[in-house]
Order: sequence, then structure tokens, then C-alpha cells
Amino acid sequence: MNIAIDGPAGAGTSTIAKIIAQKLGFLYIDTGAMYRALTFKVLEEGVDIRNTVEIINLARKTSIDLINNPDGSLKVMLDSKDVSREIREPRITKHVSDIAKIKEVRDVMLTLQRNLGNRGNSILDGRDIGTVVFPNAEKKFYLDAYLGERANRRHKELHGLGQKVSLCSVEADLQNRDTIDSTREVAPLKKADDAVYIDTTNLNIEQVAEKVLTYLK
Ligand code: C5P
Repeated sequence: MNIAIDGPAGAGTSTIAKIIAQKLGFLYIDTGAMYRALTFKVLEEGVDIRNTVEIINLARKTSIDLINNPDGSLKVMLDSKDVSREIREPRITKHVSDIAKIKEVRDVMLTLQRNLGNRGNSILDGRDIGTVVFPNAEKKFYLDAYLGERANRRHKELHGLGQKVSLCSVEADLQNRDTIDSTREVAPLKKADDAVYIDTTNLNIEQVAEKVLTYLK
């Protein structure tokens, strides 16, 4: 069984997906982490961010895997190296959407994500899970929240990771990614027709998780 959770950055998709996966004993598949891992490799190899041909080549010869730790956290492996921490750096966040909009990159990720999702009962979070990756997922959710609230959440999270970024820059980054992610030609961010829409603006994590669990029952 596959559960799809889509939504814009900061809407809580990964936090909720992780909680539900732990509660149900499902695999948790953070598809954004996969695009981030590739972005990390592009930057590490010094490839120009505008060099689409080279980025596609790199994507085709890169191995990305996600390992679920028993404590619910996720290990992101890039060519057998753990990059879980590095992929959250601001330089990755800044460029990831430009790399994720390349069709051939998405084709590579699509295959990887379907293979991971077919390993067993799984819950995937991303932008196009319910629309493209697993259009036949048994349950689909679309989480949303106002930009200001999403920026607040992401700002807190980044401070928790020791990243001293201003609220303003976090909000600008979210807005920029929202625009790129929802206007790109291939697999843009949008709610699947059959997804349950949850506005999380005025809900805390427990309340959102509870809502999702209620729909799943
Ligand atoms: O979920 P997260 O914010 O880590 O995702 C990082 C970026 O990866 C998104 O802004 C988007 O550009 C891309 N992404 C995507 N499709 C997905 C998941 C993430 O295009 N399924």
C-alpha cells in the first residue's frame, strides 16, 4: 500500500509523513531529499547550475538510497555516502528547484521513487506523488498553509539545525520555490483530484497527524 502526501515547502509534509510511517510501521520516503542529494552532488562536482546536459548525465550515474532508521529518522545515501545533514544546507535549498524542474532528472527520480515505494507499505512525501509518481496510491493527502506560517515553521526548524538565517530570507526562499515548483512544465506541484486537502495553518503537528490518521482509518 502507498500513501501520498504532497504540498508546498513548510506545509509539514515530511514531519507528518514521518510520524504516520512510524505509527503504521510503513517505510518513509522523502522524495525531496532525493532531489536535494542530487543537487549536493552537482554543487560538489562544480557543475554549472545552468549546464542541463551535464546535470542530466550526473543524475543518470548517481546512486541515491533512503534508509529508515529504527528511531524513525531517515538516512540519505548518495553514492553510498551519508549526506543526510549536508542536503539541508541553504546552498542546496537555493538551487534544488532549478534542478528538480529538468524533465530527464525527474525521469531518473521517478524510477528510483517507484522502486523504493514498491519495497513495501510506504508513505511518500513530495510535490507530485499523488499526481505522477503513485497516481494509484490508496490514500492521498495535500497539506497546505499560508506562506507566513510556513516561513515561521521553516525558520524555527533551521535555527534548530544551527542555521542562522533571517525570517525574511526563509520566506523569500519558500516563495521562490513555490513559484518554480508549481509553474514548471513537468509534474508541477498541485493537488491530485482525489487527495484530501488539509489546511494546516492553524493546526499543530499532533492535530494534523490525528486528522490524517482519522482519514486512514
Ligand atoms: O521537500 P523538500 O522541500 O525537501 O523538497 C526540495 C525540493 O525538491 C522542492 O522544492 C522541489 O523543487 C523538489 N521536489 C520535487 N518533487 C518532489 C519532491 C521535491 O520537485 N516529489
